[in-house]
Amino acid sequence: MENLVVLGATGSIGTNTLDVVGRNAEKFYAHTLVANTNVEKMLALCVKHKPKIAHMVCEASALKLQKRLTSSSDIEVTTGVDNLIAHVTSNSIDTVMAAIVGAAGLIPTYEAVKAGKKILLANKESLVMSGRLFMEAARASGSVILPVDSEHNAIFQCLPEQVQSELGHCNLASHGISHVLLTGSGGPFLTREISTFTDITPEQACKHPNWSMGQKISVDSATMMNKGLEYIEAKWLFNTSPKQLQVVIHPQSVIHSMVQYRDGSVVAQMGNPDMRTPIAHCLSYPKRISSGVEPLDFFKVGQLSFSEPDYERFPCLKLAIEACEQGQEATTVLNAANEIAVAAFLENKIAFTDIAKVNQACMSGVVKSQLDTIGDIIELDIEARIMAQAEIDKLLKGH
Ligand code: NAD
Ligand code: MG
Repeated sequence: MENLVVLGATGSIGTNTLDVVGRNAEKFYAHTLVANTNVEKMLALCVKHKPKIAHMVCEASALKLQKRLTSSSDIEVTTGVDNLIAHVTSNSIDTVMAAIVGAAGLIPTYEAVKAGKKILLANKESLVMSGRLFMEAARASGSVILPVDSEHNAIFQCLPEQVQSELGHCNLASHGISHVLLTGSGGPFLTREISTFTDITPEQACKHPNWSMGQKISVDSATMMNKGLEYIEAKWLFNTSPKQLQVVIHPQSVIHSMVQYRDGSVVAQMGNPDMRTPIAHCLSYPKRISSGVEPLDFFKVGQLSFSEPDYERFPCLKLAIEACEQGQEATTVLNAANEIAVAAFLENKIAFTDIAKVNQACMSGVVKSQLDTIGDIIELDIEARIMAQAEIDKLLKGH
């Protein structure tokens, strides 16, 4: 039996993970569930999955959960960052599903990496912020990182076995690989008239044509910042140079990414757009288990199409690619600025088009700094959030 911690258990990835775990209960046990504030959902998960530990990051929520669990329940309810670190590094744990959204996922995921746990990595922001330190820590501890993000999972599946075992320091060219092709649907605004982008509402931005996801990543998909963050994530996982990594727009989301070889072969991974496929793949790699996903029906799919990304339509994608070339300071700042800008957009404070403006302004303030520890990264993240808030205040004054 493999014991799991599910970080972000109440979210979209957390829910899908627990669905796959439930279908394969003889192999996997959701030993520890972690969430922020959603007591109702956590309570339902506790009843269904009977974990040993339910951890709420929000202390008041932990108290509420404790009260709601019947006195006969032997589930331990905890809160506090020290407890969280103890949970992900515990000897009882084999595997950590890293599915907290945003920078909040960095510390618990990094601690699990240092402890040598198997990491199922959905929280791309932790790699965007700390890629070099993160991959170095994994190499030092022997932690196996398996990418859950559907594109990176697809790329992983298209790579030779030896490259799969060398994530972070693989040499793609020496295995005959010329390009990694990162596909993206283009989100809900791929064909919308650009002059109307200022009118986009949070509700419209969160309505992804193919995927059902949390709010933050849905907005990131609409601006294509998500693809930009994934570009940075791919660089760290697959050690790609800018020439080896290319974004391809593929609106149907049937191909989840591809690897192009020197001899002209292109290997693609396909399937219905359902995160339970990459989650199941990571859970049982290198074996295969059932995930509950419908088999892909090619006759229903009909046509697949491809195009180049349009940076005028999606300036955030361009910013992220530039940040990736600039280095860790730029990617950390961009990630933090984007989180603040997306939150302000979701609260109806700024326009959809202001997200790129805030990100651009923060990026232009990036200076070289010493980023030798996770503490340095967190400090820069906090500074960038203050900078982004100041940019938002400026925009609000101008309105
Ligand atoms: P979500 O908003 O649905 O869920 C977020 C989870 O994180 C919730 O369980 C919440 O309780 C928890 N959380 C939020 N703030 C927290 C904090 N401060 N401390 C601890 N926990 C906190 O998000 P999601 O769509 O499931 O995405 C999770 C991660 O997976 C993101 O990094 C996202 O980029 C990545 N991802 C998601 C998808 C998808 O299909 N949803 C696909 C690829 C990658
Ligand atoms: Mg993705």
